[in-house]
Amino acid sequence: MATKETKGSHEGQTDILISTQTVIMKALEKLGYPDEVYELLKEPIRLLTVRIPVRMDDGSIQIFTGYRSQHNDAVGPTKGGVRFHPNVTEKEVKALSIWMSLKAGIVDLPYGGGKGGIICDPREMSFRELERLSRGYVRAISQFVGPSKDIPAPDVFTNSQIMAWMMDEYSRIDEFNNPGFITGKPIVLGGSHGRESATAKGVTICIEEAAKKKNIDIKGARVVIQGFGNAGSFLAKFMHDAGAKVIAISDAYGALHDPNGLDIDYLLDRRDSFGTVTKLFNHTISNKELLELDCDILVPAAIENQITKDNANDINARIVVEAANGPTTLEATKLLTEREILLVPDVLASSGGVTVSYFEWVQNRQGYYWSEEEVEEKLRDVMVKAFANIYTTATNRRIDMRLAAYMVGVRKMAEAARFRGWI
Ligand code: GLU
Repeated sequence: MATKETKGSHEGQTDILISTQTVIMKALEKLGYPDEVYELLKEPIRLLTVRIPVRMDDGSIQIFTGYRSQHNDAVGPTKGGVRFHPNVTEKEVKALSIWMSLKAGIVDLPYGGGKGGIICDPREMSFRELERLSRGYVRAISQFVGPSKDIPAPDVFTNSQIMAWMMDEYSRIDEFNNPGFITGKPIVLGGSHGRESATAKGVTICIEEAAKKKNIDIKGARVVIQGFGNAGSFLAKFMHDAGAKVIAISDAYGALHDPNGLDIDYLLDRRDSFGTVTKLFNHTISNKELLELDCDILVPAAIENQITKDNANDINARIVVEAANGPTTLEATKLLTEREILLVPDVLASSGGVTVSYFEWVQNRQGYYWSEEEVEEKLRDVMVKAFANIYTTATNRRIDMRLAAYMVGVRKMAEAARFRGWI
């Protein structure tokens, strides 16, 4: 019987953990916290590595490596997605869990940050192989997670079906139906209305608020979106419906560009479940070219380290809103800020997903469910307030919105740890 192991790699990429730690340190310094607070928050408090044997359809066994990182649970249970991707690394999962803590602080949720990942390529796995992997992961981490401990959710290449399998597996282990163990579930299994499009909705609200600051009318604004996954595709739809001109979108294989605006409904119809669509077209441009297009609003909604010191000066947008986690490096943040491009950071812009996940968890706990309108109204309140808070902090202190967001995000966690007597 053949066994095969998967490996993750991020070679040659800017170290996102170090970048995050750098900004956390600056934020804590500005807030006047002593060094111990940084020592506590610079790394996750717990990290679990698991190896998951999965029977593949051809009868062989493949061993997958997975992680679950819990950054800090001073405020409450940890919370965050699980990604299935060949480039998952321990370091990435750690950084992502820290970002989840910051997001929870920014939108004021009663959570700390968590994140999980499995090194795998779901594009090359069958439906049943994915089911076995999802269930295997839950069996491996079941002691470590739970509705009052650490609550997983979807992330890159995971979806409501995967959440359903995970919830079912956890409920079997627990011997009772436990929908609050995970969020991003299908509606019939206790999912929340509006969860699937929540990240994009949150990004849209941030775009609207940022556009007001820059006197940009969304109607007719030229929007470029990198990525056509969950966030990118819903966002293209929302922008298109709001009267903006989405002039370019991309997937992992290339980008489509039309200065007169793309036919978004057609592209949504043709994309596959991983957001791939450009392969159907002959005339494509590269992702690099897409980022440099002349536009009003640029939204990196794909992966990390896309805007770096090498291309920051070639960005031709008035606003950059980070829908992905970590798309802009710290050097690039500085260069964009110097050029007066308004950068709305990931920890704020992408926090709509976890906000509606929180609503889902609350609904599961109370057993009473809200309408789509209620969810949307509550999300809007949260996002508008968070944007205003961070924008004001940035303006008053003359700092960029990333540092301001970290200051807002880290404060509640530091306070909670202090009250608990940890520092
Ligand atoms: N994976 C999403 C994020 O990075 C959502 C996490 C959640 O809903 O808990 O924010």
